[in-house]
Amino acid sequence: MRGWYDRRASEEDRLAKARQRMLRRHIEGRGIRDARVIEAMGAVPREEFVPREHLRRAYGDGPLPIGMGQTISQPYVVAWMAEALELEPGDRVLEVGTGSGYAAAVLGRLCEAVYTVERHLSLADAAGERLRRLGCDNVHVRHGDGSGGWPEHAPYDAIVAAAAGARVPEPLRAQLRVGGRLVMPVGVAGRGQVLVRERLGRSGGFTREELGMVRFVPLVLPAT
Ligand code: SAH
Repeated sequence: MRGWYDRRASEEDRLAKARQRMLRRHIEGRGIRDARVIEAMGAVPREEFVPREHLRRAYGDGPLPIGMGQTISQPYVVAWMAEALELEPGDRVLEVGTGSGYAAAVLGRLCEAVYTVERHLSLADAAGERLRRLGCDNVHVRHGDGSGGWPEHAPYDAIVAAAAGARVPEPLRAQLRVGGRLVMPVGVAGRGQVLVRERLGRSGGFTREELGMVRFVPLVLPAT
C-alpha cells in the first residue's frame, strides 16, 4: 500500500516536472531570454501560491483566482515583466499589488529587496505568511494603498504595478531613481491595456516604451 509519504513524493515530482514544462513552453518558448529570470521562474514553487482547489492548474498558462476577485498573474506575464525591469542583483524594487506574493517571490530572487503593497488585508496577510514560510526574507509586504508607493524605502531602482490604471500615478514616478525603470499596464480594465516601461533620464524626464497588449485587474485608487 502506498503511504502518505509516497503519495506526497510523487505529487512533488509531478509538480517539479510541470514546472520544467512551463519553463520550456511558456517562458523560453515565448521568447523570455534573460537567464536569471528563467532560473527564478524555475525555482519558485507556484503551487504554493495558488488555492488548493486549483493545484492541478498551478503550472497552466493562465491566471487563477486567489480570492477577493483578484488573480495570480499568468506565469509568462510575470516573467515578461520581470525581464522588462532589467534587474541587477543589487537593485531594490517596489511592487504595487502583492496578490498571492508569487511575482514578489520571483522578483526577490533577482534583486536585493522587494517592497510590495497590497490593498486587501486578507491577501497581504496570506502573502506575507507564505513568503516567510518559503524563506523569501528579502520580500517585505505592507497592507495599504500602493498607488502612493512606499515612500519610506524610496528611491527604487525599479517599480512594477500588477494592476492596470488609466495613467501611471505620479507618486510612483517620484519614487524612481535616475536610470530606474517603471513597468505598468496602462489602459481601461476590461478593454485593451498596454504594458508600458518608463525610464527616468538624467535630465529628470521620462522616456516611454510600449511593450505589448495585456489584461490585468484594475488598480483601485483611494476615494478622494
Ligand atoms: N502579482 C500578483 C498579482 C496580483 S493581481 C501575484 O503574483 O499574485 C493585482 C493585485 O493588485 C490585487 O491583489 C489587487 O488587490 C491589488 N491592487 C489593486 N489596486 C491596488 C492599490 N491601489 N494598492 C495596492 N494593491 C492594489
